[in-house]
Amino acid sequence: MSDVRYFNQEIETLGRNELDELVDERVKYTVDYAYRNSPFYRKWFDKYNINPSDIQSHEDLLQLPIISGDTIRTNQPPGTKNFDFKSVDWKDVFTVHETSGTSGIPKSFFLTWEDWERYAEKYTRSFTSQGFGPDDRVVVCASYGMNVGANTMTLAARDIGMSIIPEGKCTFPVRVITSYEPTGIVGNVFKLLRLAERMKKEGLEPSESSIERLVVGGESFAEESRNYLSEVWGCDVYNTYGSTEGTMCGECSAINGLHVPEDLVHLDVYDPRMNEFVNDGECGRIVFTTLLPVGSKCGTLLLNYDTEDTTVVRTRDKCSCGRTHMKIENPQREAETFWIQGTPFNRVDIERGVFQRENIEYLTGEYESFLYGGEEEGETTMRVSLECHDPANCDQEVVRENFLKSFFHYKPALEQAYYDETFNIIFNFTGSGELEFYRIKGRPKRVVDRR
Ligand SMILES: [Zn+2]
Repeated sequence: MSDVRYFNQEIETLGRNELDELVDERVKYTVDYAYRNSPFYRKWFDKYNINPSDIQSHEDLLQLPIISGDTIRTNQPPGTKNFDFKSVDWKDVFTVHETSGTSGIPKSFFLTWEDWERYAEKYTRSFTSQGFGPDDRVVVCASYGMNVGANTMTLAARDIGMSIIPEGKCTFPVRVITSYEPTGIVGNVFKLLRLAERMKKEGLEPSESSIERLVVGGESFAEESRNYLSEVWGCDVYNTYGSTEGTMCGECSAINGLHVPEDLVHLDVYDPRMNEFVNDGECGRIVFTTLLPVGSKCGTLLLNYDTEDTTVVRTRDKCSCGRTHMKIENPQREAETFWIQGTPFNRVDIERGVFQRENIEYLTGEYESFLYGGEEEGETTMRVSLECHDPANCDQEVVRENFLKSFFHYKPALEQAYYDETFNIIFNFTGSGELEFYRIKGRPKRVVDRR
């Protein structure tokens, strides 16, 4: 356990007014940098007849249009001759990255060495806030390669003085744990649950292993699944959120929201029509703006970029960990939000139903669900498939009841539709390895809309 509470104490504990002033200074510099160096933003400001010097504060960002992943895709080859978002000369580009996204067409990102250092600092702060220090050894199960996450975490370790075991996947042999006695693992909820199962089969109880903390990220999850992971491993589980765009945020030791490194990452939360900022405490869409320290260079910067994720600003007050930077709730993917008869639900709502504590006595936690149109107009059927430890000894009635109670908790309209039989939920209990997603390569699709 490290005694160092901060990586960059002055910045991380800056008072609210000074922090806002710093943000405004960096908004101004970043907008100006964009106009001078990014072919896309130069055309964009001219096209909308906006003078970059009119953008003086973070509130002024509201006057600028919002761009999306598609904007990046259409302003790079083959859509345009050059990469119009690239905002430095090739001689300053250190690495090139691509993110696939949902459409399959990759977005290109160009990182300078300075970008790498700033990206790494975000993770350094977050690891430090989670109690990691020079005595720690961390297995990174995030993939190395075109994604920046694993590499940036590795670079962050240099500044903390901790050791990294760069496995890249969570399928490493159990001997890695017994041989090197790592104190932490970075992975995702399901992969860490599967790893725990493998360890148990080989006679190593995860809670009795060398692991002292887990860091999860890469996708949103239900609080229930985090709690279960924490129980299985007998340690704290910290959440991180981040992307190649540079939106790294991390949970501190308080474990109640992710700190946004406000001096480097500017997040605005917009209403569904993308017209106004929502109030703190209200759910909205995350719109991201890169913040550059005055005088610095950046390979790809983004102003008002729609992340297609939603969140809630939990607080801008000082945290019990001493940090002043705002905290947000675990972001959810808009692409994983589905509508039934005018009511939205997210994949996480299904996951919450699966991970009800009593259910996990019978279920492995692996699940998938499918939405179908019904026989009658406006009817919807949801089939939820649940993997059981032992289908013959699964109390299906208990699982069903817990699931429905949790799923309908904040959705009275859907509950009504369920009793009116315009919304049906069919449960399907399977044995180990029988879910459909096991037969498909890549990240499991937990909700498939077949309407
Ligand atoms: Zn904190």
